[in-house]
Amino acid sequence: MCRHLGYLGPAVPLAGLLLAPPLGLLRQSWAPLDMRGGGTVNADGFGVGWYPGAGAPPVRYRRAVPMWTDASFAQLATAVSSGAVLAAARSATVGMPVVETACAPFAEGRWLFSHNGVVRGWPGSVAGLAAALPTVDLLTLDAPTDSALLWALARHRLRAGESLVDALAGVARSVTAAAPDSRLNLLLTDGTTLVATTWWHSLSVRADADSVVLASEPFDDAPQWTAVPDRSLVVATTDPAVSVRVHPLDTAAK
Ligand code: GLN
Repeated sequence: MCRHLGYLGPAVPLAGLLLAPPLGLLRQSWAPLDMRGGGTVNADGFGVGWYPGAGAPPVRYRRAVPMWTDASFAQLATAVSSGAVLAAARSATVGMPVVETACAPFAEGRWLFSHNGVVRGWPGSVAGLAAALPTVDLLTLDAPTDSALLWALARHRLRAGESLVDALAGVARSVTAAAPDSRLNLLLTDGTTLVATTWWHSLSVRADADSVVLASEPFDDAPQWTAVPDRSLVVATTDPAVSVRVHPLDTAAK
């Protein structure tokens, strides 16, 4: 199952966040420690979205190659700094294509989105949810994958004015109702707030005095890391101060 990471805090070089840590996303792309539910490496592509500052929308870099093979990204990552980042390394679910457009983060406007996991019974199990989307959304899916459909469902809610929390929780609830046994660790940000779900997959949080990281796996052995319980909704921000709230992700229909 893929790995993802979200960061909010003072601007840091992307390399310091993703490549340098001993168990960072780079290392997790070839030697993850906690791959629940299948897969051994995360070598089917990667993506990084970062906010360049001054209110500008996020910039995205995605490739359908293993992170460790991309020397250009390694160089770029030392030169680019950001205070809001969402990154992912992909392990494609069997049968789903290995293409750049299937790599998180998925994006629109200020939103960046990622999914660790799998929608069981895809696509049939969630055909009813897909059918409720505008046809044009289905015709313009990023890729024929479960994660791209999850993004289309979340984006539809965000476009309708739902908050990040409501959109992510709404997608998790509706998809787990339609496709039980799915693994739905979702991650969404607007550059100011990070929202994540845990549904049958690993997630850890690290909050410091002025920053917060949500990651599928801790990227070092710092004592601040804590594991997020399964079936939780996490809301993290650094504005105006660092705050991390973890709520049970109630499955009851809203
Ligand atoms: N099922 C998704 C994909 O194939 C995510 C894969 C994962 O988490 N391993 O893109």
